[in-house]
This record gives sequence, C-alpha cells and structure tokens, in this order.
Amino acid sequence: MSSVTLTGLDATLDARLRQRLGEHYRGFRGPEYIQALGGTLVARPNPTPSGIEAFTVHHSAGSHLDTGRDLWAFHRRIGWNTCGYHFVVEYDGEVSMSIPPVKYISYGAGPAWNDSTVHICLPGHYHPHQELRNGVWRNVSFQPSSEALRSTYVLLCTLDDVVAYRRWPGHRELKATACPGDNLMPHVVEMRRMGAQNPRPIAYI
Ligand SMILES: [Zn+2]
Repeated sequence: MSSVTLTGLDATLDARLRQRLGEHYRGFRGPEYIQALGGTLVARPNPTPSGIEAFTVHHSAGSHLDTGRDLWAFHRRIGWNTCGYHFVVEYDGEVSMSIPPVKYISYGAGPAWNDSTVHICLPGHYHPHQELRNGVWRNVSFQPSSEALRSTYVLLCTLDDVVAYRRWPGHRELKATACPGDNLMPHVVEMRRMGAQNPRPIAYI
C-alpha cells in the first residue's frame, strides 16, 4: 500500500475532506498503518468503481478505547491484508482514510454487496452490552460523541457529493447484526433524513 497514491475520485475526495473537516481530517493513513505493522499489503482493486451502491456505517463492537490503528492491527491478525473499513471516524471526531474507497474494495470476504460498499467505522461499542469491571460483569451502554457524529455526517455528505448519491445504511440494514449498535443506528437514520433534504443541512447537531 505504501506505493499506492490517490488518483481520480479518491484524490478529489481526499482534497474535499481536507477542506471540509480541516484539522479533523488526518488524510490517507493506510501506508503508515501497514508500515508500522510490518505487513505487505495485497490490495484488492475494485473491478467496478462505478458500482458503489452504499456508504455503510459500522461500529467496531470492540473496546471503547479502540482506534483506527487497533482496527487495522486486528484485521491483520485475523488474516486480512487491509483494514476492513475504508474510513475510520475516531471518538474525538478525527477522520482518516485507510483504503482509497473508489479504487479498492475492503478485504473482508463476504456477500456481493461488500464489494459495492464504502465502509465507515466508528471504533467503539455502541450497543448495550456487558463488560467485566473489577471482576464483576456490568451492563454498559456507550453513546457516540457529538464530534464523531458531526464528522461522520460531513464524510457521508462528501462521499455523496464526490462519488455519487448512494444509500447510507447502517450495517444491520444489510445483514443480521447488531452493528452499528442501538445507540448509533438512530443517528444514521437521522443523518440520512437530513442528507436527503434539498438543500441539505450543512451540519449535524
Ligand atoms: Zn458492521
């Protein structure tokens, strides 16, 4: 991936995100991640970039302290060659591009829609669940931060503007899964409602 440069719509997307998110955009970090992990990346070129049908929102369902780098490391450990998500929106609202979304499909093998989707992940666990704390299992329920939600909305709008108008589903709308969690899913629905308006509101929250 270190030799991968952004071209075409991926480069336009990168420039537009830099413009709209300012210091909240960390750029294309895939090469940096893969280098730090000592891996060799076998990217999967998207055979039909024009076939992108959806911009799908996920949570990582891991630790609430997860970051994009953890996701990349985890996916490498389970044998994937790249992070399974094209974009990561950190808890503090920072957005980074892991994989150029138009040129490459994410690594996770799956049904056909996986190849026609731009994957966005908010690291963290936004579904009510139990966590072990001081030896006791406790019910926990985390909310996404307003910074992360704002950045996600800007990212979705920008994908929409640059790539083309596409669906904005939560993962659970494509497959039987709790992802992106009961606490994040309503925001995806609301962003979609706002995004469909004309003119589209420029900010979420
Ligand atoms: Zn998911």
